[in-house]
Amino acid sequence: MTWRTASPNYVRCVGIVGGGQLAWMMASAAQKLGLKLAVQTPSATDPAAAIATERVFAAIDDAAATARLACLADVITFENEFVDLAALQELAQRGVRFRPHLEVLTPLLDKLHQRQYLQALGLPTPTFAEFSPDSPITYPAVLKARRHGYDGYGTVVVRTSQELATALTNLGDRPLLVEEFIPFERELAVIAARSTSGEFALYPIVETQQVDQVCRRVFAPVRLEPALAAQIEAIARTLLEHLDAIGVLAIELFLTPDQKVLINEIAPRVHNSGHFSLDACETSQFEQHLRAVAGLPLGNPVMRSPQAVMVNLLGYESAQSDYGKKRQQLAAIPHAHVYWYGKAEARPGRKLGHVTVLLSTPERAAATAIAQQIEAIWYPAE
Ligand code: ADP
Repeated sequence: MTWRTASPNYVRCVGIVGGGQLAWMMASAAQKLGLKLAVQTPSATDPAAAIATERVFAAIDDAAATARLACLADVITFENEFVDLAALQELAQRGVRFRPHLEVLTPLLDKLHQRQYLQALGLPTPTFAEFSPDSPITYPAVLKARRHGYDGYGTVVVRTSQELATALTNLGDRPLLVEEFIPFERELAVIAARSTSGEFALYPIVETQQVDQVCRRVFAPVRLEPALAAQIEAIARTLLEHLDAIGVLAIELFLTPDQKVLINEIAPRVHNSGHFSLDACETSQFEQHLRAVAGLPLGNPVMRSPQAVMVNLLGYESAQSDYGKKRQQLAAIPHAHVYWYGKAEARPGRKLGHVTVLLSTPERAAATAIAQQIEAIWYPAE
């Protein structure tokens, strides 16, 4: 195979492993930067298949397909981490350029390895252990699939030994992690970016709200004590420096009732907690990621409005509807930006789209009211 061998600072086409909504949302930034996108995704109906210049239809963990992608693109990045790392490492040895480098993914793909990596760096995490049937467990605890979990699939809170038995049956025979249940006061998240020249940029810290372990709302920015904000920034800098990361990375955090910060999860890619940046920031997380992987200087992540709220439109039924009427009602909300991912089918819990509303005031009550308005339009009355 012949890889495209552009000089490191001249990237014309970015290959993305994954073709879901995250890749889809890179389209306008790619256009703005004069970049083409090539995607590797299983199906022609996946959101980003429609916006890519080149498509490789294959499973995410099909490294032979990633080799084909590397013939179409100057650099390969990820919107999904369910990859076959060992097989990709062979491609890297044969000269395929990955950004972030595969060494960034190595400690992060398995939730146990990720916790161990954070602990070794001295960063705060919940207490955790590899799960084995005879592990002593203090209830409540959280069981997590070490790999391939997302949107709460693979994460179960267990409060009794009976719940543990049920969770083990449901999770099936796969490697698990067990950790302490954190009775968090709030969940926070932040997107950080690093360029090929080591430039660093941090987005405003946000509050995320999960329902049934799936993100429902994001409030940006969250108001925090300066010391806490500084601690979170220091965590982000330490992580990106140690990983030698290129691109954006999302950090999800718990804020405990006694105001301690613990890291829940790191995602080496653009993330749902940063969708607000598409409309609310000078440079969106999608543009920032493309800038970094293309070897360009970073853009300014500053917000353009005092406050923004993002609400996910999650499927609540199995259907093939495009929910046109509801989308129109959502678009009628002043300063609303409605994104519809164009997925072929709705299923309960599936991320079908999102709405971001920019506010001219910093009061949280106003953002909460808008989130409630959006959810009242979107979800059927109980
Ligand atoms: P996923 O990778 O599927 O997003 P996470 O590990 O991020 O799974 O967990 C999803 C959600 O479950 C979190 O946002 C949080 O609300 C809850 N959760 C996860 N771990 C814990 C924990 N140790 N204590 C309390 N809640 C947790």
